[in-house]
Amino acid sequence: MSEILTETERRSNKSPLSGVSFDGSAPLLEVEDLEVEFHTRDGIAHAVNNVSFTLREGETLGILGESGCGKSVTAQAIMGILDTPPAKVTGGQVRYRGVDLLQLEEKTRRHIRANKIAIIFQDALSSLNPVFTVGWQLGELYRKHAGASRAQAKSKAVELLDLVGIPGAPARINSFPHQFSGGMRQRVMIAMALALEPDIIIADEPTTALDVTVQAQVMTLLSDLQREMRLGLILITHDMGVVADVADKICVMYAGHAVERADVYEIYERPAHPYTKALLESIPRVDQKGQDLTVIKGLPPALVDPPPGCSFHPRCAFARDRCTTDEPPLYEVPGNRLSACHYWEEVLES
Ligand code: SF4
Repeated sequence: MSEILTETERRSNKSPLSGVSFDGSAPLLEVEDLEVEFHTRDGIAHAVNNVSFTLREGETLGILGESGCGKSVTAQAIMGILDTPPAKVTGGQVRYRGVDLLQLEEKTRRHIRANKIAIIFQDALSSLNPVFTVGWQLGELYRKHAGASRAQAKSKAVELLDLVGIPGAPARINSFPHQFSGGMRQRVMIAMALALEPDIIIADEPTTALDVTVQAQVMTLLSDLQREMRLGLILITHDMGVVADVADKICVMYAGHAVERADVYEIYERPAHPYTKALLESIPRVDQKGQDLTVIKGLPPALVDPPPGCSFHPRCAFARDRCTTDEPPLYEVPGNRLSACHYWEEVLES
């Protein structure tokens, strides 16, 4: 039921995955040295530079960073939905169960995109079609891609709305997107992502547009479903508070680079990169009344003209002369972690 085929492929009864051999023992997803450029009028923007990480079954990876740091571009490159041009994947691999997705034909990628890896976008209202009921939109996935009858598709749509905690699902399938609250719409988006039983869900700022209480409900739902279904979940956010409770490991991005990678506990307990440290210090504390809000001075660099050396140096409290000329590699830090800072030991001790 979960296999997605286009009408033509379904009629010809030939799966686009025939001839692709996945390795069940390989990690769900391995991103290795991924590079993405955007060709703009101002020059080439290096949006993603040598980004690597691994996601295993049942794991949640949080990708953190300010707007424009390359988080969403990384997600879109994994999904194969970058607008090309202006974007271009110029290097690296995106392996799903050992198979490099970047080398596959578009029809095979399209199949994997919905069937194995699904994405939830930030803005549910613009992701859903306003002129069709949510039941129709959910059922369409089954009708189009799995050959379900109208009755089967309808009952699947009800099942999914029920699964994501929408009360009165049999009646709500007849509602249009604008008749749902923001939180309920995001639940519909989660239902759509789960519809074809993917192995991986990428949630790109799934709760940014929601108020804090609804944000917590949606995150709890996502993390409960992820645990129950043993999904690999990539959670993209600029909010360190959102991922603290649900992520197993974190990749912090800055100016298109992964600058720190570690288990969630390590990152929050003792960051090994000044940027991570500054992000943590900028979270307001409810237990400290009257405190001044801490901000990271300056702005992220323009990706068409990043500063030489370490791209964080104009904003870094730990910067020295060397930082303005030598780009830091990802240093191995005790505790199975990585930091792109020449002075990570000093940061750990601070
Ligand atoms: Fe700061 Fe230098 Fe480390 Fe970059 S390499 S984060 S500028 S101390």
